[in-house]
Amino acid sequence: MFQVSGFEKFLPTPQEVRRVKILHWKAMEEVSNTDTAKKVLKPSKGLLQSEELYQYVLETSVYPREPEPLKELRDATANHPRASMATAPDAGQLMALLLKLVNAKKTIEIGVFTGYSLLLTALSLPDDGKIIAIDINRETYDIGLPFMRKAGVEHKIDFIESHALPVLDKLLEDRENEGSFDFAFVDADKDNYWNYHERLMRLLRVGGIVVYDNTLWGGTVVVPDESLVPEGMRFSRHHTIELNKSLAADPRIQSSLIPMGDGVTVCRRLY
Ligand code: SAM
Ligand code: CA
Repeated sequence: MFQVSGFEKFLPTPQEVRRVKILHWKAMEEVSNTDTAKKVLKPSKGLLQSEELYQYVLETSVYPREPEPLKELRDATANHPRASMATAPDAGQLMALLLKLVNAKKTIEIGVFTGYSLLLTALSLPDDGKIIAIDINRETYDIGLPFMRKAGVEHKIDFIESHALPVLDKLLEDRENEGSFDFAFVDADKDNYWNYHERLMRLLRVGGIVVYDNTLWGGTVVVPDESLVPEGMRFSRHHTIELNKSLAADPRIQSSLIPMGDGVTVCRRLY
């Protein structure tokens, strides 16, 4: 039986945590268009308590170890109107670590944009490693391509301009692909994450890893009243909530939802 220890009794109850999160969300909504919000709230890519804490993580642990090609690509993406789509560098650093831990050689990426996560994957694989990288938009991939070339990793990348689902289905038509991938990163249309998961469970080898990005969807997964969520976020919020429940109940995986970036769920195929 779970005992409440001396320390735990000082922790807020789940109800209190939820109430504070809702208050915080309402406050963010109220100020989201003010100068303060632009300066203080908007730049934070993480779910940490303060922007200062996030900057501390970046400056102490991430930026000093970030490979030069990734830094250059990050700078080149910074002025893109959709720059906030790029993978957060701290989440990228975790991915690079996971890629090394599973000795990844063959990987899939769904959602490339300008290629921050793709380049970090390419840099982490051995010289004969291969990445199938899928995105519906080749134009943004082309922004990142010169950085892949300069880093000498372009030969590892097989970029496919397409919706991801038919590509995964095509891969599964060849039985040789089943259980042959070491790693996958999914960072695209949230309503298809579960469809990707079903296919990736067959494409990944046992012990292989799939990482899902944005699984806390800006913190909106805990907002009980949908009317408080900006309209443009509601559709993906719904699918993210469903995904998180389904992943938690999936016996085929061991998983961890990490409150980093916008929420990163790491899953390891068990059988
Ligand atoms: N991982 C990228 C990075 O580190 O910069 C960011 C990816 S961005 C958040 C999402 C990408 O998914 C966009 O480039 C978009 O074109 C792509 N996308 C959206 N729906 C897709 C689909 N059905 N199939 C493939 N790509 C899709
Ligand atoms: Ca993302």
